[in-house]
Amino acid sequence: KLSYEYCEQLVSDFENVVKHPIVGKSSVYYTGVDLGTACVVLAVLDENYKPVAGAYRYSDVVRDGMVVDYIGAIKIVREMKQQIEEKLGTELIYAAAAIPPGTDALDGGAVKNVVQAAGFELTNLLDEPTAANKVLKIKDGAVVDIGGGTTGISILKDGKVVHVVDEPTGGTHFSLVVSGAYNMPFNEAELYKRNPENHKELLPVLKPVIEKIASIINYNIKGYDVEQISLVGGTCCLTDIEKIIDKQTGIFTHKPKNPMFVTPLGIALSC
Ligand code: ATP
Repeated sequence: KLSYEYCEQLVSDFENVVKHPIVGKSSVYYTGVDLGTACVVLAVLDENYKPVAGAYRYSDVVRDGMVVDYIGAIKIVREMKQQIEEKLGTELIYAAAAIPPGTDALDGGAVKNVVQAAGFELTNLLDEPTAANKVLKIKDGAVVDIGGGTTGISILKDGKVVHVVDEPTGGTHFSLVVSGAYNMPFNEAELYKRNPENHKELLPVLKPVIEKIASIINYNIKGYDVEQISLVGGTCCLTDIEKIIDKQTGIFTHKPKNPMFVTPLGIALSC
């Protein structure tokens, strides 16, 4: 099967620089801006496309991939930009951004305006699975992006996205299940779910909703020759989610060490 070495290395380097930025003398910096339903991520690469800094912040400026709080989104991106600039001691000029596939006519403009209004020069606006695949480098297979509001399934043939669907089941549904099962307010359940210490206990509780996602994958890849599935998106941080999806689909399923950072890094690489 494919080697995911490049992806693992990049994600792991990125995790390190989020905590400890690398201050250096790069002639240029490339920033990837990922405006998600649950989380806004900025990934900064140097002139050699190596991660040097990054930040992420949970927010609700985007819902199901669409910007719903335009001013709030600008404010968050601007603040995160400034914070990283202070740490690196330099101005970040160039940025790329991504949008869920199929939303370009509706929302491409909003994302573009947010990034520009936050002070960046936008060099590229691409779709999320194409961005993720810059890191995964899959030739043939499926990228399954389980985010907050939705699950995006993209099928790749010869390295190009040939089919894409976005289904309205995601991490928010996981939190609703936890909330119901534990009789917890939603926000509390959301935090409980994100804590890796609770994952082992939560897996049986969340199994039915993971199986539902697996059945959505099975349905949508029918008719395509998919030999591997790569999981990205915050919800795939759930420990062992890949095992359930692998079993239910019968297809080799790979999950990078931190699936939340694959798309933002791919966006930065496309800058
Ligand atoms: P969308 O793709 O729907 O626009 P998004 O891009 O904001 O949303 P991500 O940031 O990829 O989505 O993922 C957010 C989801 O990931 C949230 O539901 C969040 O609860 C979940 N999540 C984040 N970290 C963890 C974790 N450690 N364990 C389990 N779930 C997590």
